[in-house]
Amino acid sequence: MRTAQTVAEDFEVVVWGARGTLPGSGPCQTEFGTETCCVEMRIGQCRLVFDAGTGIVPLGRWMAAEDVKEIDLFFSHVHYDHIMGFPFFMPLYRPGTRVSVSLGHMLDGRPGSELISDFMRAPFLPIGPKVFSADIEYRDFKPGDLLKPAPDIRIRTARLNHPNGAVGYRVEHGGRAVAYVTDTEHVPGKTDQNVLSLFENADVVFYDTSYADAEMERFRNFGHSSWEEGVRLAKRAGVGQLVLFHHMPMRDDDKLAEIEAAARAIFPGTVAGRSGMTFQLAPARARAEAG
Ligand SMILES: [Zn+2]
Ligand SMILES: [Zn+2]
Repeated sequence: MRTAQTVAEDFEVVVWGARGTLPGSGPCQTEFGTETCCVEMRIGQCRLVFDAGTGIVPLGRWMAAEDVKEIDLFFSHVHYDHIMGFPFFMPLYRPGTRVSVSLGHMLDGRPGSELISDFMRAPFLPIGPKVFSADIEYRDFKPGDLLKPAPDIRIRTARLNHPNGAVGYRVEHGGRAVAYVTDTEHVPGKTDQNVLSLFENADVVFYDTSYADAEMERFRNFGHSSWEEGVRLAKRAGVGQLVLFHHMPMRDDDKLAEIEAAARAIFPGTVAGRSGMTFQLAPARARAEAG
């Protein structure tokens, strides 16, 4: 039974990992961070977590220190860069903590609990999911389903274009919306209607900007998109802020800053995702008054 209650005025988003494919490393990657995909949304007392890349490890330490007892985790899909931090997420080892794990059936239709067991198996890892002492509840869904982690939080989902499948999310609360769309490939010259509908007038959108348009041909069918496509979608959907996300492991700080500046010149509401970056979403009423 959930005890957390949400408060309409309180909606904060924290980036714990913005890199894709592999963690980064080295002194040239300090500004944007080395951790792979993990974004936390704090809505009142609710803690929603999107993906369990290595960014979920420092998040788990922080949650344990704060004694967070209820967590809703949503996977975009289970490629390594989105799940590799899961066995090291400290709240899973804390009795009295409830963690719900939502996984959209991608293309194979296997239950989430089975996918997690499969991921944490010998000899690749010395521990299986039995080692966890938190109360873990698996919630399987299909892309397109509407999820309601709390009475006043709606999460719309949609299928993305990615090998083995992936799911995009749009979290709505108190007249505000944040979209988390990563690991999706666009068809050049064609707008992805699934992504557009998740983006429509959202305050903040995260988008897979692994590549530049000029690289798309070389990486066709890898399942990723470009920063230019992110800008086109953000402009078309009327979003507030575009967060460039799923940075390639080889991109250093200088290159990411260059991409961020180029995107900003076309769409000023662009930022490149960095570990530790936060967004405070103004109440819808305050935004309306500000015009
Ligand atoms: Zn990925
Ligand atoms: Zn992937």
